[in-house]
Amino acid sequence: MNSFDAFKDPALCRVLLARLTAEATEPFRFMEVCGTHTVAIFQSGLRSLLPGTITHVTGPGCPVCVTHESEVAAFLDLAGRDDVILATFGDLMRVPGPKGRNLKTAQADGARVEVVYSPVDALTVAAANPGQTVVFLGVGFETTAPAVAATIRLARERNLKNFRVLSFHKLVPPALAALLDDPDINVDAFVLPGHVSAIIGATPYRFVAEKYRVPAVITGFEPVDILSALLDIVAMRREGRPAVHNTYTRVVAEDGNPVARAVMDEVFVPADALWRGLGKISASGLSIRDEFADFDAMRLPGVELRETPVLAGCRCGEVLKGKMAPDQCPLFDKACTPATPVGPCMVSTEGGCAAYHKYRLEL
Ligand code: SF4
Repeated sequence: MNSFDAFKDPALCRVLLARLTAEATEPFRFMEVCGTHTVAIFQSGLRSLLPGTITHVTGPGCPVCVTHESEVAAFLDLAGRDDVILATFGDLMRVPGPKGRNLKTAQADGARVEVVYSPVDALTVAAANPGQTVVFLGVGFETTAPAVAATIRLARERNLKNFRVLSFHKLVPPALAALLDDPDINVDAFVLPGHVSAIIGATPYRFVAEKYRVPAVITGFEPVDILSALLDIVAMRREGRPAVHNTYTRVVAEDGNPVARAVMDEVFVPADALWRGLGKISASGLSIRDEFADFDAMRLPGVELRETPVLAGCRCGEVLKGKMAPDQCPLFDKACTPATPVGPCMVSTEGGCAAYHKYRLEL
């Protein structure tokens, strides 16, 4: 067994699960705010093994899912322009927008939409198409933003005049604060995202325990990571000493990744942002700084965030706030399936609805 396998060792998992079952005598609800955790908890089978006192709630941890209706409409508006080529990660292609349209249908109607595997690939598209403006769709959390920032810097170094980014990046800590400020949301603890924390470290989450008295644990994605985090939460609740702990120390340093944060800070500045379901949250997004204005797609003439209706019947907003389990949505597994997604939470592989669909069927 290598050291990585130890984090999924069945014997160790059984011991931790037995301890958790014995120690979690008081009921509590924990929310994970990372789509990879959502999937990991289902995929490992942990969700069905947790003691009955522990309720798992999925939160706003899927970047595609929290992309606001108006932002999706802005993608589609850009796709409709003859002078624009969109470059995007593949997971945005099927996100439904107004009138059920998405980037795939736009592509079928003649829009140029290129799926790329890295933001840097979009620079190649721009270099090959000097007569058109290539717009990269910047969707993601703190994990994605540094690579996009570095790409913008590289575009400037290469003197590429036809490359821009539509920055709809989102920041996790302000969303946690918004959830905790909402009296209708019932969450007793957080399992914090491993990937985002690798960039920002533990310090930006301190307010969760200090202001709101809610325990929170940064952890990894293997069953031992998740069980250890839950045991830590149980101990903090029992002792009445909520804190923010980092149990993912093999990846997450206390101060995160200063190099990644520096490039992110050089190119982006925090700005108010719209989140699906959560609405506008102060300083929860990243706008492109004036120094890089020539690379900002929001500054192209005619680009705007216009009022856009919520997708008819879709309850993604409530799912993302942990107010509703995906299978409580009336459309779940009826009108809405991965083959016929009504909302983004069923499109993205990290979406709560897609996870419920996939693993509920397999359990
Ligand atoms: Fe939206 Fe479909 Fe999820 Fe319902 S099941 S909340 S319609 S994505």
